[in-house]
Amino acid sequence: MDNTVQTDVLIVGAGPAGLMAAAWMAQMGVNTIIIDQKSQQTRCGRADGLESRTLEILDSFGLADKVWAQANHTVEISLWGDTADGRLQRQSVTANSKPGWSRFHESTLSQAQIEEYLMEYVRDRRNIEVKRETTPTSFEINYETINDRDAFPIRVTLENAPSRPNVTLDNVDTSDSELSEAPSYDSGYAGMGTTVEAKYILGCDGAHSWLRKQLGLRLEGESYDDSWGVLDIIPLTDFPDIRKRFIIKSKHGTLMMIPRERKLVRVYVELPPDVADRYRAECDADILMEQIAMIMQPYTISTSHIDWSTIYTVGQRICRKIGIHNRVFLAGDAIHTHSPKAGQGMNVSMQDTFNLGWKIASVIKGVLDPRILETYQQERLPVAERLIALDQRICKGMCSQRNRSTGTQHGSFDEDHKKALEEENSSMSGLAVTYHPNSLVTSTIRDAPLPMDVADCISKPSVATNLQVGMRIPSVLIVNQSDSQACHLQQIIPSTGQWNLIIFGGDIARADQKRRVEDLADALDSPDSVFWKLNDPASVARRGFTAFGVYLVHCADRLNIELNDLPIIFRPWTEEGVDYGRVWADCEAYHHGGGGKLYSSFGIGDKGCMALLRPDQHLAFLSDIDDMGGLEQFLQSIMPEAT
Ligand code: FAD
Repeated sequence: MDNTVQTDVLIVGAGPAGLMAAAWMAQMGVNTIIIDQKSQQTRCGRADGLESRTLEILDSFGLADKVWAQANHTVEISLWGDTADGRLQRQSVTANSKPGWSRFHESTLSQAQIEEYLMEYVRDRRNIEVKRETTPTSFEINYETINDRDAFPIRVTLENAPSRPNVTLDNVDTSDSELSEAPSYDSGYAGMGTTVEAKYILGCDGAHSWLRKQLGLRLEGESYDDSWGVLDIIPLTDFPDIRKRFIIKSKHGTLMMIPRERKLVRVYVELPPDVADRYRAECDADILMEQIAMIMQPYTISTSHIDWSTIYTVGQRICRKIGIHNRVFLAGDAIHTHSPKAGQGMNVSMQDTFNLGWKIASVIKGVLDPRILETYQQERLPVAERLIALDQRICKGMCSQRNRSTGTQHGSFDEDHKKALEEENSSMSGLAVTYHPNSLVTSTIRDAPLPMDVADCISKPSVATNLQVGMRIPSVLIVNQSDSQACHLQQIIPSTGQWNLIIFGGDIARADQKRRVEDLADALDSPDSVFWKLNDPASVARRGFTAFGVYLVHCADRLNIELNDLPIIFRPWTEEGVDYGRVWADCEAYHHGGGGKLYSSFGIGDKGCMALLRPDQHLAFLSDIDDMGGLEQFLQSIMPEAT
């Protein structure tokens, strides 16, 4: 019997990275098999911190509402240290993340819950097959067909895996309670040596990545001797800041606590070598509690419930090759591991595949040229490098053993540590990640020496001085022209695989400005325009989604504008009647205590501008409203159907 199956995408690993990739495939209708050696998802412990950008991303799949409602919001952070006479004292209380960066801020919810929501999103889709207790055993690439975009050059053999309830992480000796496992809801390929032929394979298989090893690649970097304990507990304490995030640096060591859902707190506690050895030998969480109590004295702490505990040694490692032949990709912990204290691991892992998923799906669906897949390595490797550098700074600030050797006084927070903590929840959290010019991000500098595959056309940053090409579009409140309901700009462009052109039309109550917007609308709406080529009904039916959407956000007095006076492209007819979600105003919102700030915060001048957003909300092209030529040139350089 031939046990060969073909699929567009094979994802190895159903952790946060693998599931985010699967979410794109589910959304964009790409046939996918996702396998995991474990019989079920993470049940407790591991990551708990969700950064603002991750929440924005989950929101783009319609998943943030329930996460946000369930999560604990980490609003404040306090820093505690010893006074000169050795007493523990609060040194500062500040906002945990800089206000204004996002409509979300850092929150905590268990990795288990996040995985569950993502799994719910993908598992009932006809195009996604989830196979648990399944591992790959062999991997081959057929180089003869590798350049044929319709071929299936990846061959992987799969086997039923004996149940693997718990995996030892790269830098974690685990004693976690994932050990007790319930039966799985899905079985593997029941004993068959099944061969999967795939167009693409994604290694989202964690720090010990099997796929990375097949490719002969290694994580490179350093590990240190510092040991840390991690616990999720319900605390019984008189410590006043227990429901804030706080860090204590005392003569007894360092600890960080982060409040969580269900009255839990996550504790990271520095362990002297003898305490770490005892914990490793006895696996007794009380040993960690004793250390926590010592650091927190004179306050008292005990616990009514220990959800999970483990121990890890600090290490930062990275794999510098993350995409091979535009067919094989690695993501998440498979390419970067670090200490959990920066709260980034699950976030950056999901953000890796948020970057990769739509690109692969768009190539499979014929929207994008396969060479754009180079941009995954170009865009995500620098993010991984910055993550490792940030973690090194945070660990340096937190580890008193190492600080002793550098002469830093215990109990004090040096400026770089404070700065790193601030960056952790703002720029590093994905909000300020800016991709450099490449085939999917236009340059802003004319005649600059640029790598070969950078798009030829040039963006004009002067039209929106506070927007940065390559960055995610900031989310600002806008008001719907037709019903005055307010929402954030990002919310009108969910993750569907569609590229979105946002025309910031300016004051369209002015005749000259309205004319410019009408001219652009006419050009877009002409039968031979890129808009119609990409949204040709036959292509849309074949691929299952529209490739190109157009929105208008104006700053005229909303009540002076009539929707019916605007070009038809902004009020298209659908099977359900007029689509009223295309025209928005930058004006005050009745019930939200905000609005009317988009043009000023983006730095958009009188003449307005247009911004082309990729499916991941990153700004690809920015120009003035009259630059239809630049827009077409850019789209034609990456989209075969646009020519
Ligand atoms: P993983 O979550 O490791 O998932 C990999 C998946 O692949 C697993 O399900 C595994 O079973 C499967 N797999 C592996 N090998 C195979 C194989 N050969 N065949 C089939 N399947 C395979 N991150 C944060 O963002 N915030 C935090 O606060 C945070 N705290 C942490 C605390 C601790 C103690 C630890 C250990 C980690 C923490 N992290 C945190 C990190 C976070 O858990 C990881 O970065 C994240 O899980 C990485 O996701 P991933 O999908 O890349 O890998």
